[in-house]
Amino acid sequence: QRKELPIELQIFEEYHKKYKEILLNLPQSHPAWKYLINRGINKNYAERFGLGFSNGSLKSSILDDFDLPITLGNKLGIVREDGKEIFQNRIIIPINDDFGRVIAFAGRTIKNETPKYLNSPENKFFQKSKILFLFDKSKNIIKREKYSILVEGYFDAISMHINGFENTVAILGSAFTQYHAKKLIKLSDKIITMFDMDEAGQNATLKSLDYLLSFGFQVAIAQYTTKDPDELIKKEGQNGILRTLENSKKFHEFIPEYFKDKYNLDDEFGIEQYLEKMAEWYLKFQRSKHAAILDTFIKRISLIILKPENNIKKAIDNILK
Ligand code: ATP
Ligand code: MN
Ligand code: MN
Ligand code: MN
Repeated sequence: QRKELPIELQIFEEYHKKYKEILLNLPQSHPAWKYLINRGINKNYAERFGLGFSNGSLKSSILDDFDLPITLGNKLGIVREDGKEIFQNRIIIPINDDFGRVIAFAGRTIKNETPKYLNSPENKFFQKSKILFLFDKSKNIIKREKYSILVEGYFDAISMHINGFENTVAILGSAFTQYHAKKLIKLSDKIITMFDMDEAGQNATLKSLDYLLSFGFQVAIAQYTTKDPDELIKKEGQNGILRTLENSKKFHEFIPEYFKDKYNLDDEFGIEQYLEKMAEWYLKFQRSKHAAILDTFIKRISLIILKPENNIKKAIDNILK
């Protein structure tokens, strides 16, 4: 027993070892491997990200063997009271703390069971609001590359890393928080968001943009044609990502573009509503460290609604009065 590792993390470590072993010992014809291979993850990549598989074969005796209490295993969401595993027939994705210690698991069903992902409950070491997936692996790369990439899902982050974008981290299904922002801005104040292109993802983009600006980040937003980055890589490979990152728009260019389709700019009432939305963001930009971009922001709006910059500035001033 390793004294330096807290007992909770010893339990995660032991189960993680077993889950990795189970996966590595399964034949390539097993559904778990078929699933992973189909997602572009071979044995090497599985090892690189510490992936495992739970097939329900582990007995609570592995806790006994290490003198670890079952009750703690229950609390950590790894085993039931009878010692049976909570994760059954799922790919195990380890969630690490910033130093690479396993603090939770995510389990992905390989045959469309609900929930799609099963996550360990929060514990002393694992709080979703404070942890970013793959942060431990990307922190030095973010420093070197001088920017980070933010995605939504586990497989988005894994695919990005496999394809050479190792400065990518993922939120854990919930919202982007101030703790996440604090963590990332210590490494670099540049960030590209690449959330899913569905409605939930776009709403998350707007919300996190608000947060990131208030922390002083320079934000660019990536927009693309598939549902999420993982699917973009499957469809267009590394080049698809490169092109998408290159075409990402700075926040003050993104906002006028994004909202132009949400209003009918052919009529005066639509334009009025659009300008009210722009005024909302004008205020956010003004309050951030980015007041210098306000002129460019107005210019973008002027190019979209085809009205002189002066008029737009006046209209926004009026709205904010
Ligand atoms: P996949 O590509 O495996 O189908 P995804 O990452 O594209 O999954 P999304 O539905 O876009 O799945 O969800 C994004 C992220 O939200 C997931 O990676 C996961 O972290 C989290 N998530 C999604 N569904 C659940 C769920 N049922 N329970 C907990 N977390 C979830
Ligand atoms: Mn999504
Ligand atoms: Mn997704
Ligand atoms: Mn996906």
